[in-house]
Amino acid sequence: MTPILNDYQKWTDSTAIYRQNIDQMHWLNYCILGLNEEAGELLKVKSDMTLRQVPKGLFDSSLSPELNIASIMERAENFLKEAGDVMWYISQLANLLGVRLSDCLDRFKEEVIEGWVDKEDLLKVVFLAGQIAGYQKKSLRDKTDFRDKFILAIGGIIHRLYAIVGSNDTSFELVLQTNMEKLSSRKDRGVLQGSGDNR
Ligand SMILES: [Mg+2]
Repeated sequence: MTPILNDYQKWTDSTAIYRQNIDQMHWLNYCILGLNEEAGELLKVKSDMTLRQVPKGLFDSSLSPELNIASIMERAENFLKEAGDVMWYISQLANLLGVRLSDCLDRFKEEVIEGWVDKEDLLKVVFLAGQIAGYQKKSLRDKTDFRDKFILAIGGIIHRLYAIVGSNDTSFELVLQTNMEKLSSRKDRGVLQGSGDNR
């Protein structure tokens, strides 16, 4: 897992076009804003999945089996895409902090509070993204260094995503792979800049 994670982290620099358009002093803020947007999107996709699974179960009996499968696949793919977007922003954050994602994860595991372990709770991803924004807010106001806390929160986000996506490397690899394919395609077509997921 670790080499894949760190290779992915390095790769994200090749699609970090914000650096060409934004003053360096705002790079960290940009990534923190992006992270929070994507964490919210991930939560939205997940809650849509849950809403549509209840109370009829995974399959919607009003739809044909083919449409059911297409719908499930689409929702699963959207989830993978949004999880990948979160990974992209925390990779960029970690790059700006000069730390490897695997080290963030290790740090989190070392200091993890009891109760965090084994909970596949997506709200924690949103909470941690917000926490990073809070640290940044304070660092702007008080000129305090929160590097250590950033690292811990980044590790926490990876830890949560890993638990949510599936507790095996293949599933997590798929998140990273899906993100690389999506962004490489946009890069090749010159549409990295812009908005909306279907570019
Ligand atoms: Mg997104």
